[in-house]
Amino acid sequence: MGVAPSEGPRPKRLAFNTVAVGPDRCIFCKIASRESPSDIVYEDDNYIGFLDISPFSRGHTLVCPKKHGETIWDMEEGDIAELFRVASKLSKAIVSAVGADGFRFVQNNGEAANQVVAHVHVHVIPVKMEDKGRYRDRMKFTTAEQKETARVIREQLRLG
Ligand code: 5GP
Ligand code: ZN
Repeated sequence: MGVAPSEGPRPKRLAFNTVAVGPDRCIFCKIASRESPSDIVYEDDNYIGFLDISPFSRGHTLVCPKKHGETIWDMEEGDIAELFRVASKLSKAIVSAVGADGFRFVQNNGEAANQVVAHVHVHVIPVKMEDKGRYRDRMKFTTAEQKETARVIREQLRLG
């Protein structure tokens, strides 16, 4: 005799964010709709790339689907592939724009993974040879420096 689902143990919540908010209050949705400012380097119908406000390195960029979803599990598989295709395309422009020697993709899902903004995003973090083996603190750039970095990445995308 089986146990009815409602009587069984509650399923464990997987890859969740206790701070998740809906699209109406989500900062990345607001950036995508231009309600909130950011240094945008790339945009198409479904994806947007903009500089991280508290970057690990010059050119640290976030790539997001415009459609709100909390983690990568909220996305269709084809859209996940497209997200990483866009991130890969952007990585070439970013590495070239800041004269880096490599880059990291970081993609956090759930609070336990240090996801702070509960809207799917891929970090593209350019790195230099001297960063090898070293943990880097977040950096501070002026508004003018961030705008200039974003401009050079956009320029590289036009060249690519
Ligand atoms: P997570 O830890 O969720 O993977 O990364 C979220 C990232 O979003 C962090 O690196 C943080 O600096 C960045 N971030 C948070 N709020 C804003 C914002 O309002 N604008 C921009 N451009 N980046 C943000
Ligand atoms: Zn959102």
